[in-house]
Amino acid sequence: MSVIREADVIDSVADALQYISYYHSPDFIRAMGRAYEQERSPAARDAIAQILSNSRLCALGHRPICQDTGIVCVFVKVGMDVRWDASRDLEAMINEGVRRAYLDAQNPLRASIVADPAFARTNTRDNTPAVIHTQLVAGDRLEITVAAKGGGSENKAMFEMLNPSDSVADWVLQRVPEMGAGWCPPGMLGIGIGGTAEKAVLLAKQALMEPIDIADLAARGPRTKLEELRLEIYRRVNSLGIGAQGLGGLSTVLDVKVLDYPTHAASLPVAVIPNCAATRHLHFTLDGSGRARIEPPDLALWPDVTWSADANAKRVSLDGLTPAIIATWKAGDRLLLSGKLLTGRDAAHKRICGLLDKGEPLPEGLDFKGRVIYYVGPVDPVGNEVVGPAGPTTANRMDRFTETMLGKAGLLAMVGKAERGPEAIDVIRRHRSAYLIAVGGAAYLVANAIRSSRIVAFADLGMEAVYEFEVRDMPVTVAVTSDGESMHAQGPALWRGQFAGFPIVAE
Ligand code: SF4
Repeated sequence: MSVIREADVIDSVADALQYISYYHSPDFIRAMGRAYEQERSPAARDAIAQILSNSRLCALGHRPICQDTGIVCVFVKVGMDVRWDASRDLEAMINEGVRRAYLDAQNPLRASIVADPAFARTNTRDNTPAVIHTQLVAGDRLEITVAAKGGGSENKAMFEMLNPSDSVADWVLQRVPEMGAGWCPPGMLGIGIGGTAEKAVLLAKQALMEPIDIADLAARGPRTKLEELRLEIYRRVNSLGIGAQGLGGLSTVLDVKVLDYPTHAASLPVAVIPNCAATRHLHFTLDGSGRARIEPPDLALWPDVTWSADANAKRVSLDGLTPAIIATWKAGDRLLLSGKLLTGRDAAHKRICGLLDKGEPLPEGLDFKGRVIYYVGPVDPVGNEVVGPAGPTTANRMDRFTETMLGKAGLLAMVGKAERGPEAIDVIRRHRSAYLIAVGGAAYLVANAIRSSRIVAFADLGMEAVYEFEVRDMPVTVAVTSDGESMHAQGPALWRGQFAGFPIVAE
């Protein structure tokens, strides 16, 4: 019989969340390194190089891999013989661990959780509560898996009740292109098959907690129907040509994980959840002997990849930017931005466009005329940092505001991540604007390009406030041109089917 102490649960959860905020797991790093070696698409290879360089910088600097430090998901297995030395219940202990991790003064993590989600959407300020799943099992141990799931990838979760005669692989192949690139590929797919509606979704999430091992599976050959399914989906999804950040390329998924459960004879529930370039999870066990011992990974695991700007990248001054300069940009051009950017995301756009649509003035000092906006919600800085990790957020959430921002606010261009919808592309074309992407999952690397930061408006929105950043050589790619050409359409079309010619490489 083990006696589990409250302090050990709290400390272990906090330690694990800090750890995964800056360390990718070894299996993920190895798989991303293989993807880099194999990639033939220059734009995708550049994006993977940024992700790997960012990962190493974060491991060295103990700062978050991504500005979205995630919603905390916890899977707990409680041995039925466990005894407790605790005054709080288990969920309260876990949430205290979350609170301490996210408010850590050395490495504060971004508080992204909002209460009253349908209405007020009030930030809880400490990233609590976690989403906790508890299972009673035989034994006297406490097993905990913690994950910090990015909003961009969680938003692409899909579920459907198929007919029993339908093909799960075909369903997944139809859904993945609909996900776009907002889930920051390359990453993983977790697939849950069977049970009931809620069970299938839970299985999909649990599947993402498993280590990446598709290369080993390909090398030894599948032994079960589920393993055959994993390989089939892996090959077919990569053959779609979506590639890193949706720019077109060979690696869209690093692995496909599948879990199943018996279901009703009339049903075939299926769920798929992607995990992103910031895949973060850790498993530990408490046996009553103290807090979990979480060893740092060996930095030699990181491949020797250091991102540097493409020799063909164009240097662009934001301060003298004109529509004539924007008109020279081609889809896929790599740019290095220098000068002053304004920032803003969902909440700021809602306020700005609400004021403009009513004919009211913007707050004093906030003027978008001739400016470029960066869709970002940064992590708070520490020490000498100007700003914490500050990667892009998914741009198509701002699509509904684009006409007002370009037409009434006078904005010149936008920087975000992933594809724009057809209506937003049409607005961009009509206003002779452009949309640029930074790499999702390379937030610390991007933050290194930010030389100064000040709040311009809506300070009460916290990380969603409007800031002015001064940047130097911030790397971006032209995703939508002033003619409405989209890299997210052209790139995958070019690379479709090409993965089929490549072997699945083991180490
Ligand atoms: S890598 Fe992309 S999806 Fe993942 S947490 Fe970061 S921004 Fe969100």
